[in-house]
Amino acid sequence: MLTKGEKKEKILRVVEALKKIYPEALCSLNYEGDGYKLLVMGRLSAQCTDERVNIVCKDLFKKYPSAKSLADAKLEDIEVIIKPCGLYKMKAKNIKEEARKLHYEYNGIVPNTMDKLLEFEGVGRKIANLLLGDLYGLPAVVADTHCMRICGRLGMYKEGQKDPLKTEIIMSELLPPNEQSDFCHRMVLFGREFCTAKSPKCDTCPIKSICKDEITVKKLSKSYNSVALDLVWQVFSEFEVPVFPKEGATEYKRIIEETREKNNIIFYGAFDKKRLVGVLGMRENNHIGYFYVDSAYHKRGIGKRLFNLMRGDYEKKTFTVNAAPYGIPIYTRLGFLPTDTQQNVNGVIFTPMKYEE
Ligand code: SF4
Repeated sequence: MLTKGEKKEKILRVVEALKKIYPEALCSLNYEGDGYKLLVMGRLSAQCTDERVNIVCKDLFKKYPSAKSLADAKLEDIEVIIKPCGLYKMKAKNIKEEARKLHYEYNGIVPNTMDKLLEFEGVGRKIANLLLGDLYGLPAVVADTHCMRICGRLGMYKEGQKDPLKTEIIMSELLPPNEQSDFCHRMVLFGREFCTAKSPKCDTCPIKSICKDEITVKKLSKSYNSVALDLVWQVFSEFEVPVFPKEGATEYKRIIEETREKNNIIFYGAFDKKRLVGVLGMRENNHIGYFYVDSAYHKRGIGKRLFNLMRGDYEKKTFTVNAAPYGIPIYTRLGFLPTDTQQNVNGVIFTPMKYEE
């Protein structure tokens, strides 16, 4: 079971990966930026595919292009058009009433609060969140079937959990507010293409390495200090040989050991099951100076994950990196820094979030 911090870190990696797979996080309902249309389509989409809603609504909005025209329409006429969406009697009544309220009470402008949206007939939290996120760019988790299923499989909560409210609450705490709406749109695309309800395509899944990843990252307790330092030293000794003569390197290690207590060095580690496969050490004043990544894990984004964990703990956007002659090549090679990082006389300031793997 992942800790909350690990879940946040994992879902952030999924967010970033999905952005690359689906750069455009478009809503699958073609509402053409019109709040009235999204309100109606949201209601029609219950127990119906978005594809069918899109087809049906072409005729519906051709005949009733505004909330007023739908509000004033005959119920029987609406029923005939929306019949293919199923539950047509109830849905026709709901959308006519929605249109009435929208036009006569809100002057055609969809309100931007959850409470007010829930007063519309047939609007539940899922549709209300869709409206808040899409129309107003507000933080909103749309806990639909795809989101519920996939987030469970990703280990954000017990797999198979089917309570939309629970999903919404859990995911709104784990996802960055500004990513929530787009993430949910991408979940729909991803759920249809890869993480299908029956027989998910795990073999070809582009986020398989994240989903199945058993690596955890966390702040190390002091009992790991000497293990962490030994691993860090493997890197130092490998890279420093050209810089320091052998005795110089040994002396340098001795100094680190002597001063780590004084400097309050905190280590962050990545574990593969029980083995420590990555280490990042930070001294007070956000000075990063100690690092190690097992060579088999170089390409797995451990450096970025450790930085993100550290960033979360310290809520700092910038860290100072030792810019000794060997510092930058090591950091870039281990994936801790972007390859185009510039070095200057006094050190390097970088923002971990800005670099790409
Ligand atoms: S690896 Fe399988 S279960 Fe995990 S996200 Fe991909 S398709 Fe879904």
